[in-house]
Amino acid sequence: MNYIGTRGFKEQRSFAGALLDGLAPDGGLYVPQAWPTPDFDLSAASNGGYADLTVQLLNLFGVGVLGDQAVKAAAQRTEDAFLRDGAVPLTRLENDLYLLELYHGPTHAFKDMAMQMMAPLTDAALAQRGEKLTLVTATSGDTGAAAVRAFAGSEHVKLIVFHPLGRVSPVQRLQMTTVQADNVLNVGVNGDFDDCQKIVKALLSEPALKAQGLISSVNSINWGRLLGQVPYYLSAAAHSGLDKPEFVVPTGNFGDAFAGWVARQIGGNVGHLHAAVNRNDALNQAINNGRYVRRQAVETASVSMDVQAPSNFERLVFEASGRDAGATRDLFNAFGQSGEVALSGHLQEALKSEVSASTVSEDQTKATIKLAYEKYGQVICPHTAVALSAALTRRETGEAKGGQIVLSTAHAAKFPAFVTEALGFEPKAPDAITNLYGLTETLSEMPADVTAAVTTVKAFIEWID
Ligand SMILES: *Cc1c(COP(=O)(O)O)cnc(C)c1O
Repeated sequence: MNYIGTRGFKEQRSFAGALLDGLAPDGGLYVPQAWPTPDFDLSAASNGGYADLTVQLLNLFGVGVLGDQAVKAAAQRTEDAFLRDGAVPLTRLENDLYLLELYHGPTHAFKDMAMQMMAPLTDAALAQRGEKLTLVTATSGDTGAAAVRAFAGSEHVKLIVFHPLGRVSPVQRLQMTTVQADNVLNVGVNGDFDDCQKIVKALLSEPALKAQGLISSVNSINWGRLLGQVPYYLSAAAHSGLDKPEFVVPTGNFGDAFAGWVARQIGGNVGHLHAAVNRNDALNQAINNGRYVRRQAVETASVSMDVQAPSNFERLVFEASGRDAGATRDLFNAFGQSGEVALSGHLQEALKSEVSASTVSEDQTKATIKLAYEKYGQVICPHTAVALSAALTRRETGEAKGGQIVLSTAHAAKFPAFVTEALGFEPKAPDAITNLYGLTETLSEMPADVTAAVTTVKAFIEWID
C-alpha cells in the first residue's frame, strides 16, 4: 500500500514517506493509491479489542513498513487514550442516540487519539532512516497540548510549540508547560495566534534551520494523524449495536469527519456522515451553496473549530470528483489565489452524496449544553454541543432516519467559562486537570518576531544535539 497526492503527485510514497513529508511536494494531500479492501473480517475485528482492531487497520494501510513492534506500540497508545475502564466510551442519551466520548486521553480532548498514535510512528520512521526531526507548531490550545504530551521523551523528535501568551486557557497552558521533557520547548509569544502561525511558517522555510535536518509541523493534513481516528468509528458502530448508524461530527479542519468517511469506504458499519460547524462555516457553504469562500475566522465558544479553510476538504473533493487530481488541483490553486471558488453543480451533488453539513449558532450551542444537562444529565463541551444540536435537529426534521452517534470531542472542564454561562455552575474537573495547578511550569517568552524565533529554535536544537 503506497500513497499518492490529491493534486497529481504520482511517485508513490510508502506510509513512512507520507508521514514524514506531511504534504506532497506539489502541495497536495496524501491519500492511499487505492482504498484497501480488508483481508480480514472487519465486523468481527470491530467487535473485538480496540488495539487489535487498530493493528489490523494499520497493516491494511501499509504501516507495517515500520515493523510490527512500532505498529503494536502505536495501537496500544491509542487504545489507552480512548478506552474508559476498558470499554468503548459510548453513552446512551436516548433511544438510538449515543455520545462517543473521545476525551479520556492525557489532555482531555480528542486530538490525543491521533497524536498518541502518530508520535511512536514518527519515532519509528526516523529511527529506520537514521534521521532526526524538528517539529514546530503554532497552537491556540488543544493541538499544542496534545502534541507536547504525545512527543515528550521521543528519541528522534524535537518539538517546539508557540502559543499566544495569555490567550490560551489556563488549563491548556498548564497541559503544555508542566511537562518536563528535554526534547520539548514551550514558547509563549507576545502576540496572537496569527503571529504564532506566521512565525511557524517562516521557520519552516528558514535555511539556517533546514541545514540542521528535517523540519516540519504537526498539522491535521498529515495522513498519519488521520489514520488514528478511523478505528473508533468502527468500534463505536459495532458496540452500539446499531445498523449503519449516522455519525454527527463537530468539524473544523474536517480531519475527524474524513476519518469517518474512510471507515465507511473500507466497508465499515458506518451510515450517513454529518459535519456540524460553528459560525466559521465555509464547509457548510461549499456543500449546500456550492461556493467555497475563505473569510476571516471569527472567535466562537467552540474555538478548536474556528477554521475557515478546512484543510481536509481537499481529500473529500478529490474523492467526490472520482479521484480527478487535475480538477482538484485547479480548484485548490484557484482557491489559494482568490480565496473564492464556485463548485460545479456536478461536484456539489457528488459532495452532498458523501456528507451533509449544517451550521450551529452560539445561542444554539449554549442552549444545547443546557438541554444535555437537563434532559440527559450530561455536562458537555461547546464543540460537542455543536454536534449534538445538529443531530437533534436532524431527528426533529426526519432527516436522520435511524440511530445516531454524536462525537464528543473535549471535556467540558477545558472550557469552563462558556459552560458555566450555559449551566449556571462550573463543570467539575477531573483530577488530572485539578492536579495541574501548582506544578512547575517551564516556558520561554518571546516577542512576536521571526528573527527571535529562529535564534530560540536554533539554540534549542543545538543544545539538545
Ligand atoms: C480539533 C477539534 C475539533 C475539530 O476536528 P477536525 O478534525 O479539525 O474537524 C473538534 N473538537 C475539538 C475539541 C477539537 O480539538
